[in-house]
Amino acid sequence: MPDVFADLVGQDEAVDTLRHAAASAAAVLRAADPAGEERAGDVGGGMTHAWIFTGPPGSGRSVAARAFAAALQCRDGTGCGECAGCHTTLTGTHADVRLVVPEGLSIGVSEMRALVLRAASTPTGGRWQIVIIEDADRLTEAAGNALLKAVEEPPPRTVFLLCAPSTHPDDVSVTIRSRCRLVPLRQPPAAAVAEVLVRRDGIAPDVAAWAAAAAQGHVGRARRLARDPEARKRRDAVLAVPRRLTGVGAAFDAASALIEAAEAEAVASVAESDEAERAALQTALGAGGTGRGAAGAARGAAGQLKELERRQKSRATRAQRDALDRALVDLAGFYRDALTTALRAPVAPVHTDTAAVAAAGAQKWAAEGSLRRLEAVLECRSAIEANVKPRIAVEAMMLALWRG
Ligand SMILES: [Zn+2]
Repeated sequence: MPDVFADLVGQDEAVDTLRHAAASAAAVLRAADPAGEERAGDVGGGMTHAWIFTGPPGSGRSVAARAFAAALQCRDGTGCGECAGCHTTLTGTHADVRLVVPEGLSIGVSEMRALVLRAASTPTGGRWQIVIIEDADRLTEAAGNALLKAVEEPPPRTVFLLCAPSTHPDDVSVTIRSRCRLVPLRQPPAAAVAEVLVRRDGIAPDVAAWAAAAAQGHVGRARRLARDPEARKRRDAVLAVPRRLTGVGAAFDAASALIEAAEAEAVASVAESDEAERAALQTALGAGGTGRGAAGAARGAAGQLKELERRQKSRATRAQRDALDRALVDLAGFYRDALTTALRAPVAPVHTDTAAVAAAGAQKWAAEGSLRRLEAVLECRSAIEANVKPRIAVEAMMLALWRG
């Protein structure tokens, strides 16, 4: 029976660290006096009350945080994968594990304050109160300060697990970083990603190998490519871009197509939850009351609907940026293939199915031209990250890719 760490692909060192910490945390609980006053931070032996998981997107930051949370709540303290503690943590129903997944572009202060407050309560299961914050780099400054206070004076038995791309001060404040133990994850090798697709998802080995390479070490993306024909179609459209850039007009057309595809993908991904939330809110508000107080209630309802719309809009923007970024990563992979071919570097191509096109590009552009194009794609990503309007950034990139 695979334990809770089985899906953490190609991260042996991190898994060792986490197993060791979970074991010492379990030892503390076993030795605990009935008052239960010892803190996770006092434990030693590799356990502490605040952790930060870093690594490139898709390396498994949140998978690692959840697996560690399960091991902490595990009856045996090992993350057996079978007991109720492991099971409820992994399925997201454990009463003492709170998961924050930001839906918008940032995590706000009120959300964080409420979370910190609840995290201070005594664990109902008698083990640990755990707060997992995915994308901790998306905390607003005020939310970061609220979190910092909790991390600086941790309630007994509370454990914070943060996930972020890196420990760069842009991602996580230096003060929070200094209070956390770091678990760096690496980009898993394609072979390890392919192996888990075959073992866990039952995907055919040749499809798994192709998807793992094309996803550049991103486990979730590899799984989607292997399973979802729509995801494959979108990727094909992105990889057709280099061939379509035959002039200025074509460059602008390609920019529009890329932006619109990202918009369509985002709309599709949030439509279902938007509609469900709106219906739930309307039911909760009991639309159409006429009794005394109905006017006041209606005003309150309008405010709540407005708040819901604001949240949904923020989530849609985020989904759109994520979709566009995935497309840019695919495109960067293509120009990287052209560059490594031009340099005759002994590395496997990212996109095996467009390797011939990339080789033709390499011949035409040579290493310098391929590198300039790769840089144009990476600059576009940075520009969007820095809040340049996506259309403007993508148009500039397409022109640069056409001109070389
Ligand atoms: Zn267990």
